[in-house]
Amino acid sequence: MPAECTTSLLILQDRDMNLQRIERELVELPVERAALRKRIKDLEAQIEAGKQRVREVEVHGKSLETEMAEIEEQVLKYRSQQLLVKKNEEYKALTHEIETAQGKVSDLEGKEIELLYELDDARKTLAKETAEANKHIELEKRSLGRLDEKEVNLNGEIDGAKTALAEVEADMDKQSMSIYRRVSRGLKFPIIVAQKTGTCQACHMKVSAAVEVEVRKGNEITTCDSCGRILYWDA
Ligand SMILES: [Zn+2]
Repeated sequence: MPAECTTSLLILQDRDMNLQRIERELVELPVERAALRKRIKDLEAQIEAGKQRVREVEVHGKSLETEMAEIEEQVLKYRSQQLLVKKNEEYKALTHEIETAQGKVSDLEGKEIELLYELDDARKTLAKETAEANKHIELEKRSLGRLDEKEVNLNGEIDGAKTALAEVEADMDKQSMSIYRRVSRGLKFPIIVAQKTGTCQACHMKVSAAVEVEVRKGNEITTCDSCGRILYWDA
């Protein structure tokens, strides 16, 4: 095709690509935002799960204390009963009950100490995990802020890009533009491609001898036999 046609088609393609990039990035924004929000939610859930683990250990500790208090109360009752009994066997039976109860208390005390260690570990882990998760949440929030800025910028760019495209379209010869539009349907950029050493620089296939000659002559718009893109001569 003629050199000036190549130039205007290349400009058209360039502005087309720019507008499509802006539109594509605008479409991707909500997807990116949703992904960031999901990550923040997951991190918050992770912190909450850590808190829940600590609460469970605390609840377990409380139930142990309640159990011990009940047994100790029972021991006090046994002791006051002992003051009232007259028979030796009854006194002995109560002594046995007291010893059994004291054994239970001592087991529970052992468990309570283990639980205190466990609680200490759980709290330390929670503090560490929370700090780490909060750091990531902060980063994700900053990324969300950057997406907001990006959206403002893209919205600012899009009108200029549309105008620039309309300008080049208005100046272009209608026939080449309609060929360009037809050819570009279903193809990825670039649509206007150099033919070098008889090869299409987009699909890298050798073009037929007839196409090669046509492109070299540069009289009309010629397309690649393989991929259908518009070729221009590049020596
Ligand atoms: Zn090709």
